[in-house]
Amino acid sequence: YDKQLTNIHDGIRNTISILQYKLRKGNIELVEQYDTTLPPLRALIGELNQVWTNLIDNALDAMEVNKRGRLIIKTERDKDCLKVIITDDGPGIPEDIIAKIYDPFFTTKDPGKGTGLGLDIVSQIIRQHKGYLNVESKPGETSFIVSLPIHG
Ligand code: ADP
Ligand code: MG
Repeated sequence: YDKQLTNIHDGIRNTISILQYKLRKGNIELVEQYDTTLPPLRALIGELNQVWTNLIDNALDAMEVNKRGRLIIKTERDKDCLKVIITDDGPGIPEDIIAKIYDPFFTTKDPGKGTGLGLDIVSQIIRQHKGYLNVESKPGETSFIVSLPIHG
């Protein structure tokens, strides 16, 4: 369970390649905007990959209704934090459910498609890294913003 020094982009690219079939199937245009000068991070690599997988998977699910979409993955430095912003142009998260999306077992997906555990796990992992998770959503656009401290 030991933390290791890792380049955040390696994990993101790895996740993208695993989800490549789903990107193609969903007719998704991928836009990668990486700040390649970001320093390495001391992190639990497997756990962080789970974060990218869950967030990107949710974005792809959201865009499914449109039969197409654009996924933007952006990294940037913000003071002592490193930020990963995952944006989709799906329908957005309705205001009346946004407070519940982190709850374990909360899902709006069909039975068998969603467990409702993804964002619960994501927030636990980010907490383990002393980071923050934020969401910004409006009709037609949702962004999940992961902030991780550079000096663990
Ligand atoms: P699951 O994916 O199994 O439903 P999650 O915890 O990953 O569980 O997500 C909970 C709910 O949050 C989803 O069912 C969906 O309603 C909402 N959600 C998460 N990400 C997005 C997104 N990018 N766009 C719209 N809704 C989202
Ligand atoms: Mg999910």
